[in-house]
Amino acid sequence: MSSLLVQQHSTAAPASRIRLLSARRLIVKIGSALIADAETGEIRGPWLETLIEDVVRFFARGQQVIIVTSGAVAVGSTHFNHLDRCLRVEEKQTAAAIGQVRLIRAYEQSFERHGFGVGQILLTRQDLDNQHRRLNAGSTLQQLLKVGAVPIINENDTTATAEICFGDNDRLAARVAQMVNADVVILLSNVDGLFSEDPHANPAARLVTEVRCITPEIEAMAGHPLARYSSGGMVTKLMAARIAMDAGCEMIIASGNKSYPLAAIENGGPSTWFVPLAQAHAGRR
Ligand code: GLU
Repeated sequence: MSSLLVQQHSTAAPASRIRLLSARRLIVKIGSALIADAETGEIRGPWLETLIEDVVRFFARGQQVIIVTSGAVAVGSTHFNHLDRCLRVEEKQTAAAIGQVRLIRAYEQSFERHGFGVGQILLTRQDLDNQHRRLNAGSTLQQLLKVGAVPIINENDTTATAEICFGDNDRLAARVAQMVNADVVILLSNVDGLFSEDPHANPAARLVTEVRCITPEIEAMAGHPLARYSSGGMVTKLMAARIAMDAGCEMIIASGNKSYPLAAIENGGPSTWFVPLAQAHAGRR
């Protein structure tokens, strides 16, 4: 049996809606390129508002949503003259310290308009690798959900140096999903999903709509990270998919470029779904 499906995305509409509706707990990861304007580093407030409206709709249906957000470095980097070069590690950490405050304030203000508070959690890989710290983080997340505050997670860039950092929030989102037994991880970035070939180089490249197993063939489809601030790219998204699928969790890659990005997925917009084995689901539950 083939490990992937390559289809016209329009055929996925009803299935994606049913599958998203049946998720009890979802992790939504927002890429830097979506939340921050590439030139000015300003937070894209109107776009963020549409995302929050989507999330609030999930809440209204009784679903739980945990947000993993990038963007601290992108938002804080306006303090450096950096457009023609990459920031050094200590500059990125400083930018993150400044940007994280703005980022969380933007989320807080948006959710407040809908009557929700937020709780900020900053994590490193060490936190999740250490059982005691992982359990503490997991229990705080459960409590936040219980009291109705929206958990907003980012990597703790100030302490995560090149050696110890996740380096990308894609894998962080998948590890969080594993920690809290989430049903679905949604990675929103500026790509529609996984393509059979680089769509910029070959317009005939087709969107892979479903992956059941990450084979060498699938791995060969991943390109290299391109964005200036994020260290992700398709390679780390596939790593995240592996973590999520091993935990019995579905993962979706979709573009958040347009307004109401979660509604777009529900309505059958372009996306790639990574579907774990049925046994993994059963074992976890
Ligand atoms: N933690 C970084 C930030 O907030 C982003 C890491 C990533 O791009 O995934 O800027």
